[in-house]
Amino acid sequence: MTYSRFLELFPDNDACVDWLKARMYPDGSECPKCGKVTKFHRIASRAAYSCQYCRHQVYPTAGTIFHKSTTSLQMWFWAIFLMSSTRCGMSAKQLEREIGVSYPTAHRMFKQIRTLLADDDEQLTGEVEMDEAFFGGVRKNSKGRKVGPKTAVFGAVERGGRVITKIVPGVDAGSLGAQYRKYVLPASTVFTDEYVGYKDLHRTFQRHHRVNHSTGVYVNGNVHTQTIEGFWSLVKNGIRGTYHAVSTEYLQSYLDEYSFRFNRRNGRDPIFWAILDRAVSSRVAVAG
Ligand SMILES: [Zn+2]
Repeated sequence: MTYSRFLELFPDNDACVDWLKARMYPDGSECPKCGKVTKFHRIASRAAYSCQYCRHQVYPTAGTIFHKSTTSLQMWFWAIFLMSSTRCGMSAKQLEREIGVSYPTAHRMFKQIRTLLADDDEQLTGEVEMDEAFFGGVRKNSKGRKVGPKTAVFGAVERGGRVITKIVPGVDAGSLGAQYRKYVLPASTVFTDEYVGYKDLHRTFQRHHRVNHSTGVYVNGNVHTQTIEGFWSLVKNGIRGTYHAVSTEYLQSYLDEYSFRFNRRNGRDPIFWAILDRAVSSRVAVAG
């Protein structure tokens, strides 16, 4: 998705509203009021459509993150386009400059978009690397910014496939075990370093290979954890370069954002459309 293609598809706000309507209420869908198979027609100058039979009005943004926003739908689509075209993430400050909204608005938009990005955690299988990482916690107090404790994160990645990352209360065997038992199938071949928290993995998984980092060995044939380590670097560099620091409260949503992009890196499911699909599918039912 290039910027010129984006402009071609969404030249103005109406085009965005019409796109959303076509997804939510395509021609031939059933009217929620009269029950007839109908066509909804745009009500002039409003982001609303009415049933051709009973004139019942529908609002395509209802129940979505865009609803009741004073920011135009085109700005939202543009923000999604920008977020999906970076590899390392984009800060609210950058968004403020790019699309000309205020900083609080930019911040709120990205925060809302990130709520769409948590992937459904279908279990990983095959060759799976697992590792833990720590992210520098920063929390704000009344006197400004203060460095807080680091937050532990568990990560598992299927080689050539998806990554799953979750904040954990600690990196003891119990905390890590709760994650890998939930997210990695027992039939998998798993790869970890020699960390003591992984010593019992042979009881859960078909095969467990450990790479002995402490003796300076990082790769031994296919025994390594370079995929998950590469992912950690991507996230850490991205957070450092783009967001500077992320508070513990928001860390999971940033992890979700990086995972969402990583899981679509092969381009079969373009990120821009994947996020818009989420905006549609995450719609909550609204009365009326
Ligand atoms: Zn109707």
